[in-house]
Amino acid sequence: MLKSLFVRDIHGSMLLDSRGNPTVRASVTLDDDDYVATGIASTPSGASTGKYEAHELRDSSLPAYGGKGVTQALASIREIEEALVGTTYSTQAAWDKFLCELDGSDQKSRLGANAILPVSLAAARAAASLTDLPLYQYLGGVGSQTLPVPMLNVINGGAHARNNVDIQEFMLLPVGAPSFSEALRWSAEVYHTLKSILSTQGFATGVGDEGGFAPNLKRDEDALKLLVSAIESAGFSPGYDFMLAIDAAVSEWYDHSEGVYMLPKAKKSMTREQLVRWWKSLTEKYPLISIEDGMGEDDHEGWAHLKRTLGSRILLVGDDYFVTNPERIEKYAANATALLVKPNQIGTLSETLEAIRAGRERGLRPIISHRSGETSDDFIADLAVAVSAPLIKAGAPARSERTAKYNRLLAIEEELASEAKYCGANAVKIR
Ligand code: PGA
Ligand code: ZN
Repeated sequence: MLKSLFVRDIHGSMLLDSRGNPTVRASVTLDDDDYVATGIASTPSGASTGKYEAHELRDSSLPAYGGKGVTQALASIREIEEALVGTTYSTQAAWDKFLCELDGSDQKSRLGANAILPVSLAAARAAASLTDLPLYQYLGGVGSQTLPVPMLNVINGGAHARNNVDIQEFMLLPVGAPSFSEALRWSAEVYHTLKSILSTQGFATGVGDEGGFAPNLKRDEDALKLLVSAIESAGFSPGYDFMLAIDAAVSEWYDHSEGVYMLPKAKKSMTREQLVRWWKSLTEKYPLISIEDGMGEDDHEGWAHLKRTLGSRILLVGDDYFVTNPERIEKYAANATALLVKPNQIGTLSETLEAIRAGRERGLRPIISHRSGETSDDFIADLAVAVSAPLIKAGAPARSERTAKYNRLLAIEEELASEAKYCGANAVKIR
C-alpha cells in the first residue's frame, strides 16, 4: 500500500554551478506518519541548449551575475512552498503533476524549469529515505543492478571551449571493461596518457567546461586520431576495449537564412548532404560508434537522410532534437536510434521517466546525461541504474562536478557487490 506523504517544508536557495553561474537548490521535507526525511537536489544548466527545452528562468533584466541571477526562480520556489506545504500526496507522478499544474505553461516558463526540477528531485530523494532504500532502488525496484557504460568527454570544443574545434565533444566508451570500476580506471589512464601526448606534441592541456582538454587542432578529425593514439599508448585496443563517440551539437551551426550549416570556428558552410558524408567518412576511419546531434533540431529531412545512411551501423543520438520531451520523441523517433536524457530539459522526474519509456517503446536507447554547467548533485547516477540505461554521459574523469556522478556509480557498484552487472559491449550493440 502506498503511504501518504505529508509535505512539511520546501525551501530554495542559490548556489554557483561549475561555470560560476548561479543555479538553484531545493530541499523538501516529508513526513510519512512514522518518520520525517529531507531530500536535497540542485539543477544543472546547459550552454548549447536546444530551442525546444523547458524554460530556464533567469533575472535577465537585473545587472547581478550579468543577468543570470536566479532570484525569480527562488521566488517560484516560495510560491511552490505556499501552495504545497501542508498538503499530502502519495506518488511522484502526483507530486510532479501538482508542480506542472501550478506552473500552468507549456514550457514551464512561468515558474521556470530550474525552480521546478530541484523540487521534483528533492521530493524523490526524501521519499526514498523514508522507504530506507537507496535512490536507484526506490526509483527502479530491487532488480536495478546494471551499471551503464560511461561516455567520457575528454576533448572539448564547440560552445564548451575557447579553442578552434567545432565539434563539441569527443568521448571514450570503455565498452570492453569487465566492470564499471575497471572501466573508470581504464578511462582515467587514457585521459592521463592523452594529456602527456598533447603536452609532448606542444598542444595546450587546459580543459573546457566538461573537463576534457581543449587544444587548438588543425582539423576537428585530429581529435579522433589523438584518442586512438592515447588508447593504444595506454595499452588498450581501440575498437575492442574502447569505442569512440562524438556530440557534434550542430543545431548551434544551423544558418536559418541560408538553410546551410555554418561551422562557427572554421567559418565553413556545409549542406546536410556534406555533413552526412563527413560523418560517414569518420565512421569508416575510426571506431566511432555514436554521433549525437549530427543534424539540427529542425532539420527532419537531414535526420532522415542520416538515419538511412548510418542508422544500421552506429547510434544516432538526439539531444537538442528530442529535448527529453515525450511529444517530440513520439513524433521524430523514427529519425534516430538513441535518446539523450537530461532531466532539466523537461523539468520533472516523472516526465523524464515518461520520455525514457516513450523512447524505448520506439526503439530509442536512453543515454542519461549531465549538462555542461553542473553541480555536485549525483542524482543522474542513480537514475541511470534505476532505468538500466546502457550509457551515461557525465564529462571527463576529472573535476569534481563530473566525478561526482562516476564516483556515485562506483559506490553503487560496491553496494551491489556480486549482483552488479556492467552493461559493457551490449550498450553499443546495434540490433
Ligand atoms: P549542454 O551540452 O549542457 O551545454 O547543452 C551538453 C550536450 O550538448 O550534450
Ligand atoms: Zn548534446
